[in-house]
Amino acid sequence: MSTIRIDGSQGEGGGQIVRSSLALSLATGTPIVIENIRAGRKRPGLMRQHRTALLAAAEIGHAEVEGAEVGSKSLSFAPQTIAGGDYTFSIGTAGSTTLVLQTIVLALLRADGPSRVQIEGGTHNPFAPPFDYLEKVYVPLLRRMGAEIEITLERPGFYPAGGGVIIVETQPIGRFEPIDLTERGELRKITGRVWLSALPRSIADREIAELCNRMTLDRGAIEVEDVADPVGPGNAVHLQVESDGITELFTTFGEHHVSAERVARNVAEEVRRYLKSGLPVGPYLADQIVLPLALAGGGAFATTAPTRHTKTHIDVIERFLPVRVTETRLDRHHHRFEVEKI
Ligand code: ATP
Repeated sequence: MSTIRIDGSQGEGGGQIVRSSLALSLATGTPIVIENIRAGRKRPGLMRQHRTALLAAAEIGHAEVEGAEVGSKSLSFAPQTIAGGDYTFSIGTAGSTTLVLQTIVLALLRADGPSRVQIEGGTHNPFAPPFDYLEKVYVPLLRRMGAEIEITLERPGFYPAGGGVIIVETQPIGRFEPIDLTERGELRKITGRVWLSALPRSIADREIAELCNRMTLDRGAIEVEDVADPVGPGNAVHLQVESDGITELFTTFGEHHVSAERVARNVAEEVRRYLKSGLPVGPYLADQIVLPLALAGGGAFATTAPTRHTKTHIDVIERFLPVRVTETRLDRHHHRFEVEKI
């Protein structure tokens, strides 16, 4: 099979091009070369999270790899067969475990046998899907596409201390089924979860009070998860919006010099925008769901204006798979994406 060359500086120019190219290389058995890795970032080249994703992909795909050092700006990756099995991958920093998982999970679902994968690092990082996002949104959608998959949070790990562990268990499936995510349907309920790690309970109380105030939510609809034996400080606020057609989840992280009330207001504002849009797929999900749909060879989703992440991801996907992803702009905030085989 001839090698596909990917320019890591294209579009978004970030880590997603690397992870997505690896996932697609595994899925199609195509050797790849990636150049200009993360050229669009302040500190270009592979970081620990991307390197772990690369090594994880190499292990499950028995791949030959060059350029796997931290800081590397180009790499080559040539996979063979995908082997199910028992794996442990450790990032060694608070780098995102969920991003490593997304690099390999679709290939594992089509491996020759069941798998159990343990990944150590950050489970709740800004700029990455938090564990709860995988649990409530991404994994349930994979199940709707036919996947047999369980995901467990063994220990939470917040950026910057890390120390978290996630476990994913998969059974092989023949193929992914296309799904249609163009209708949100009726709103069923909104619930929340506040994570506290080595921080006072008063932070959660203030966040909950603000959320209830802003969103006319019942206090009982928001649970507090106070981490036992915390590795380092952390605070995340999730709001989960369950509708007939889809569940979405929105997150903000507590930060130094940002009041608990502000943290709560920010996530409430994201949810308000989502509800107002009337659309099912939020901006993060758009860039994450397009790969499973492309592997299924069909499906559709409706979202607000797509991010550069989504557009870049589509460009990468179309290099590997015989699919076309067509975007129809219904208005400024309403875009419909359709995936079809060519
Ligand atoms: P880089 O450092 O090069 O930007 P990266 O490897 O950290 O790269 P990105 O390429 O920016 O990561 O990709 C981040 C991914 O995390 C995207 O798929 C995005 O949808 C997802 N993501 C970010 N924030 C959230 C969030 N709050 N909820 C769900 N998903 C999120």
